[in-house]
Formats: sequence, structure tokens, C-alpha cells
Amino acid sequence: MLKLILAYFFPWIMIFLSPRSNESSTLRLTKITDQVYSIVAPAKGLPNAENKGWNSNMHFIITEEGVLLFDTGASQEIGVQIKALITTVTDLPVKWIINSHSHADHWLGNAAFSSEVDQIITAKQAFEEMKKYGESDVAFFSKLTNSATANTQLLYPNKLMSKEKKLKLGEFKVEFILTEGAHADSDLMLWFPKKRIMVAGDILSSDWMPIVTDQTEIPVLLATLEKVITLNPAIILIGHGQATSIVSVKRDLAFLSYVWEQLEMHHSEGIDKDISLTIIKRNLPARYVEAYPHFDVEIDHLLALLYQKSKI
Ligand SMILES: [Zn+2]
Repeated sequence: MLKLILAYFFPWIMIFLSPRSNESSTLRLTKITDQVYSIVAPAKGLPNAENKGWNSNMHFIITEEGVLLFDTGASQEIGVQIKALITTVTDLPVKWIINSHSHADHWLGNAAFSSEVDQIITAKQAFEEMKKYGESDVAFFSKLTNSATANTQLLYPNKLMSKEKKLKLGEFKVEFILTEGAHADSDLMLWFPKKRIMVAGDILSSDWMPIVTDQTEIPVLLATLEKVITLNPAIILIGHGQATSIVSVKRDLAFLSYVWEQLEMHHSEGIDKDISLTIIKRNLPARYVEAYPHFDVEIDHLLALLYQKSKI
């Protein structure tokens, strides 16, 4: 449980920041391109009684053979609502589900698709975490949402990935990008080379500063951001927040690289934490301050997390 709370701590503070957190908890569809849709949560932060657990995004692609659904939300009830929304644009069943990672707001809706789904795909390590924390996560979310998410059965992934793969799903060639430590213990992103669309969970951000959890390893995150930039997606769909572009990935890579280098330098010079963080914050180039809408509220917490990571 502590692990889950820590993993969510950073998003949790965001609920106080987002002017949109009071919006309705009714799910709505956003068309991204032909065949590609997102369901973007207005709320940010942990599930609560107001958002009824809808704090994370889902995305789906309609193929000739069925629907490919990326993440299923924080409860079975949310899964039921996703299913209803999908039926407004296609009669095809959800054939594949991808769970981006083990954090419970990304996979607890799986059971809503039990009668139609062929494959539920996740990283092997994510599956281990789901088995370990799934039951307690349901209880935790139920408590947070005043029982709005309580009627949730666990439906675990049945296809596990331990390395990166290219698959043909329907008419699409899809590349599965697997990382260990970029956000959670392991994360999957989907790359559609022909459409130049990247579908990511929580590794990539739009208006937030980079999401760092207790499971994040900064060198892995940096390498992953570099990889995404190399692929050069035109559209990036993410786990929390609006769709974004490569601009925000470059922004995050530049910011994180700068701070990481400063921290390493300060460690080698024996500068203590308070002085190090004060110097870094004071000398941050204006382009980083201006690039993040909630910089003033997020920066101290993020710098403290990065300092902690840099000591390991
Ligand atoms: Zn997450």
C-alpha cells in the first residue's frame, strides 16, 4: 500500500492544482484521427468520491479485426462506461487490451471486457505487481471513492511481454516498447510507425512536469525520452492530461538532463541537499520555468525527489 501511495504522491498533489478537477465524471470521447480515439479524464490525482475513480486516460484504435484498447481505468464500472462509449463508434468487439503498467488506475477496468477480449497484454514484471497489489488496490480505491469503484473484479493480463516486440494487430504493425524503471517497475508504450502515433502510459507528460515515482530510475527515463524523440511521433497520447507532441518530450529530456547533471556535480563536490537544491532552483534557465504551467507548485517536490534518486 505504501508503495502505491508513494507512486501516486506526485499526481496526488496535482488535484489541488488543476482547475479542471471539478468537472463532471462522465466519460467522453475525443477523436484523435481516423480509427483512433481517446477518453481523457478531466480530473488529475488520485481517484476520489467526486471523480468516481476516473483520473486516467484510455485510448483505442479500431482495426479491421476488432478494437485495440490501451488501459482500462480504475474500476470495472469505468470499464463498462468505456465499453459503452466504444459501441457508439464501432460494432466490433475489444479484441486486445494493453495495460501500460501496474498502477491500479490503468487496469482495474479489464473485467468489463471479459466476454469479448482475446488478449490482455502487459509486461511480465507489471503482471507480478498486479498479482501482488491488485486486491489491496481495489480496497484502497473503494475507500477513496466512497465505494464508487467497489464492484471491481480482477481480470489479469494473459499475454506477458518480457522483451520488445513487433506485432500485427488487425491491419496495423505495432511496436511494443518495453522499459523497466522509466515510470513504474515496467511500462509498455505502443508505437504505430505508419500513423506516427505513440500511445504511452505515464512515462510522457503534457502540462505536468515529468512524473517521478519511487520506482522511476532517472537514467532509464532519460534514455526512454531519447528513444521517443528518435522515433519522432507526430501525436503522443498519454495516461494523464491532453494529447501532446514531441515538443513536450524534448522539454522534459532537457529539463531532467540539466537537473541530473547539476545534482551529480554537486554530489562530487560534497554540496549538501539544501544548498544543492537552492542553487539548482535559483539558477534554472528561464526556458524551463516558462515551459511548465504549474512550475511554482511542482518544482520543490520534484527537485527533492530527483535529489533522493541521485544519491542512490
Ligand atoms: Zn502510473
